[in-house]
Amino acid sequence: MNKIQMVDLKGQYASIKEVVNASIQEVIDNASFINGPKVKEFQANLEAYLGIKHVIPCANGTDALQIAMMGLGLKPGDEVITADFTFAATVEVIALLGLTPVLVDVDPDKFNIDIEAVKKAITPKTKAIVPVHLFGQCANMDAIMELAEAHNLFVIEDNAQAIGANFTSKNGSKAKAGTIGHVASTSFFPSKNLGCYGDGGAIFTNDDDLAHTIRGIVNHGMYKRYHHDVVGVNSRLDSIQAAVLDAKLPKLDAYNKARQSAARKYNAAFKNHKNIITPKAGNGCETICDNCDCHVFHQYTLKIQNADRDALAAHLQSKDIPCGVYYPIPLHKQKAYVDDRYNDADFKVTNTLIDEVISLPMHTELEDDQIDFITSTIIDFLSK
Ligand SMILES: *Cc1c(COP(=O)(O)O)cnc(C)c1O
Repeated sequence: MNKIQMVDLKGQYASIKEVVNASIQEVIDNASFINGPKVKEFQANLEAYLGIKHVIPCANGTDALQIAMMGLGLKPGDEVITADFTFAATVEVIALLGLTPVLVDVDPDKFNIDIEAVKKAITPKTKAIVPVHLFGQCANMDAIMELAEAHNLFVIEDNAQAIGANFTSKNGSKAKAGTIGHVASTSFFPSKNLGCYGDGGAIFTNDDDLAHTIRGIVNHGMYKRYHHDVVGVNSRLDSIQAAVLDAKLPKLDAYNKARQSAARKYNAAFKNHKNIITPKAGNGCETICDNCDCHVFHQYTLKIQNADRDALAAHLQSKDIPCGVYYPIPLHKQKAYVDDRYNDADFKVTNTLIDEVISLPMHTELEDDQIDFITSTIIDFLSK
């Protein structure tokens, strides 16, 4: 059995080496390192893949979120509602811009922002909701868009973890994650489902005016060379990263299928186990069916109940099985974000999840013998 990796980027590279190398070489030969043709090519290909009018590449997923909020013209004092159970980048940019973060609890099955909690958190100062499509599947975008419309709010989708996932709305229509809200952000961090070989990110929108505003913001607030109309930032996707992404984009659906296939095998092995709750897939389907398109398993995350999650994690490490706890501390308890406005009792789900969740190795190169070893090691441990 090959050594198990949490994310196997080396193994993935081995199978795409020629095309990635050729794509990178093209950038070097052209010496078009910044805003070169590869960036525009990738941008156009991603727009076509997502079915969205505008993709604006930028330097990373955190910048993408910040720039989206700047583009919407959010101002200090505006309240922005987001999930308590997510990576800190989401709340970080809200605070950095002087906006007021309003953290709310998540739902226990899909780990995404809880709609009732969002409803309760809306005040006259609320300007935006940031649903995070955590671990690879969409938040309830039907309910979020309805709330946003009723209260005149912007919706910024943090799509760093769900690129390629679909959301099927109540009326049966399908849309790709990140194309439903007013604007969305994504990250191309190497371990994300579509990752480059350094930092990268992008903003998506169907709004022509917003796209124009954002294209200026990413480039020092410049709409005409050396005319700075607004305060901007320097946030670019470099051409070498775009070359990697453009080589990998045609494989994204196959990569997501490989993740789903691994998730299906994990789910089958853990079925009906008394201590293990396997992840629930998507809107509509309870199982991960063969043509599942709603969950792209950025992480495969179990809930361990009535057993010692930390002891299990230590045992796995001792057997050379990597695992992770995403996330170990709720944002409302992080030093940087604690606030008297929060009442710990309002975060029942997050406060429980942090003790129960464990994420298993999940990537495009997982082999059956590795999955068997991981699942049997977990089941043996829990039966002791
Ligand atoms: C990775 C991630 C980000 C940040 O992306 P970077 O490219 O690392 O800046 C933001 N939000 C979520 C939910 C993420 O997983």
